[in-house]
Amino acid sequence: MNDPVYLDYNATAPLKPAVIALMTDLLAQPGNASSAHGFGREARKNVENAREKIAALAGVENGQVVFNSGATEGNNTILKAFQGQRVLVAATEHPSVLEAAPDADLIPVASDGTIDMAAYETLLKTGPSPALVSIMFVNNETGVIQPIGKLAKLAKKYGALFHCDAVQAAGRVAIDMTRLHIDYLTLSAHKIGGPQGAGALIAGNCENGTCLDIPKFLHGGGQERRNRAGTENVPAIAGFGMAVELAMKDMDAFQKLAALRDKLESEIATIAPEAVFFGQGAERVANTSSFALPGVPTKTQLINLDLAGIAVSGGSACSSGSAKGSHVLAAMGAPEEYVTSALRVSLGWGTKPADIDRFIEVWSGMYNRVKDKVKKHA
Ligand code: PLP
Repeated sequence: MNDPVYLDYNATAPLKPAVIALMTDLLAQPGNASSAHGFGREARKNVENAREKIAALAGVENGQVVFNSGATEGNNTILKAFQGQRVLVAATEHPSVLEAAPDADLIPVASDGTIDMAAYETLLKTGPSPALVSIMFVNNETGVIQPIGKLAKLAKKYGALFHCDAVQAAGRVAIDMTRLHIDYLTLSAHKIGGPQGAGALIAGNCENGTCLDIPKFLHGGGQERRNRAGTENVPAIAGFGMAVELAMKDMDAFQKLAALRDKLESEIATIAPEAVFFGQGAERVANTSSFALPGVPTKTQLINLDLAGIAVSGGSACSSGSAKGSHVLAAMGAPEEYVTSALRVSLGWGTKPADIDRFIEVWSGMYNRVKDKVKKHA
């Protein structure tokens, strides 16, 4: 019996052992970070310690970091604050941006997944001035990296603020909010070896000595300097801080995953000349591969792989197995038969060469079983 193989880090990375140890310890301790007694002060210390680490990741002051329940909350907080004003969002954004801003104008992407610069500038300069632009740093399905500094600078030229969902960028590429002209940044702990249900929204733009305010989404308490009501989840926030610290330290090791990812892609291309890869022509993070096997629905592939203990996704975790397929690949102009037959394989801190070998062995067996259904390139 083979061990299961987890290759779905972009959905949720396994908790790092040091994070588990810290959180286990803190779960056993009472203490509300707003309480004035010793237990409360200890809880506060843990929260502020984590804040310092997250601020360091984004290159900002501690006071600019507001903890929340994760990136869905962070994205909703920003997008809903701009309701009624003109907003531009990339067509490949996560649903927590797209569905929080249903009236936004969609910025198209090129076939490699990067923003179509000419169309972006046309949208910026045509019609009422946009108040906000929201573009993710790294795409969760394809791993494609956007030129965020350039995109944000252009937004500023036309008077818009710039929000960046950097969930899949943390620990993978450098994020310096000031250098990149980012006004609001969304982060989530569970993509980098921290716990689910913890994240941060960060305000930048302190060029003239005053920083932007974080819009208020939850009301009813003075926590997070009155920016986000609700008792802070101390163990989760502390785990987030430790995950960020470790991810920053391990950033060079993360880049080495590219060799495993490239091996996986080249072996698949050899086994199945019909396979189609997405985003290969663009700059990508080291851990993500997105490819389709036209003619074989995503769901069929996922079931075959799952039966053999291989965990991957179809597109994002949210769209896994959905018959409609990935909106990201559709926005990149992929035909429907690619969109509905795509898989996302995402590697991470615990991935070993043997995991990729096992994936290839199982995927190759599946390919041989479904070969007669596979279609040639469209
Ligand atoms: N944004 C991106 C790019 C993501 O990959 C995810 C996770 O699926 C989210 C937002 C939502 O994050 P969370 O699970 O923290 O709400």
